[in-house]
Amino acid sequence: MTAPLLQLDGVVKRFGRAPDAVQAVDGVSLAIAPGEVVGLVGESGSGKSTLGRLVARLADPDAGSIRFDGQDVTHRQGRALGPLRAQIQLVFQDPYASLNPRDTVGRAVDDPLRVSGLPRAERRDRVAWLLDRVGLGGGFADRYPHELSGGQRQRVAIARALALRPKLVVCDEPVSALDVSIRAQVLDLLAELRAEFGLAYLFISHDLAVVRHVADRVAVMHLGRIVETGPTARVWARPGHPYTRALLSAVPRLHPRPGAERMLLEGDPPSPRHPPSGCRFRTRCPLAFDRCAVEDPPPVDLGDGQQATCLLAG
Ligand code: SF4
Repeated sequence: MTAPLLQLDGVVKRFGRAPDAVQAVDGVSLAIAPGEVVGLVGESGSGKSTLGRLVARLADPDAGSIRFDGQDVTHRQGRALGPLRAQIQLVFQDPYASLNPRDTVGRAVDDPLRVSGLPRAERRDRVAWLLDRVGLGGGFADRYPHELSGGQRQRVAIARALALRPKLVVCDEPVSALDVSIRAQVLDLLAELRAEFGLAYLFISHDLAVVRHVADRVAVMHLGRIVETGPTARVWARPGHPYTRALLSAVPRLHPRPGAERMLLEGDPPSPRHPPSGCRFRTRCPLAFDRCAVEDPPPVDLGDGQQATCLLAG
């Protein structure tokens, strides 16, 4: 097996102080291979974005370890983070918020190159090439973000993310704010860039149809924990965790599978401040039984790289 590009082991992130601390990420282990797309799904508040920020080292973990490209980067701080920041980039949901309205498009894409110390002439060529590569063309360099459509702004954000030739891009809901007609174009662009540059993506989305389209593997997050992982096609065909089944039930299907039961999630997720004992999904799980209140289910291997943390899995 190829050595992972990213390896998280038992990563924890808390906000606030005990006894009311929120364990936003609670012992997450996850690996991403070079060039692999891992989709991270779950309801809002499940900890997906916090995990993305930990991966990009925009937040420090409270426990666990993060390895990137063979090196332990868990405790890197300050200037030592510089080379890592070049290797791991982020693309956010709202490109308008991530672009400075006073900077031209050219300046926004040039910014990381300038910080890296590249000579001016090389930077100019590279900015023109990047804008061209994301389908905008060098003519956009003098425009301002407010003159662009949402899709064009997201293309600028992608060009900027690629400026320093990263190995991993954390895409946090990258198409959720875009019109449906534009989404497919931006997803196609991300797929082309992945193939061309061998990029790996951590693709965070609440939209399972999008994740099905882009991800090689999927990780399902619930209340700060990963409750299922596996190859996307396999998880879609045979979800091992009731939470995954419920999320998939909510996705409209053109051709519903005969015999597939729908499982609807009722009520809000429990507070991450005071998660239920035992299995954290038990208060909404239609299959819960007495052991679920006292046993914290370990991951169960379901074959072909699929795992689910449910006492009934396997
Ligand atoms: S362990 Fe119990 S409560 Fe948790 S998902 Fe499985 S059946 Fe449901």
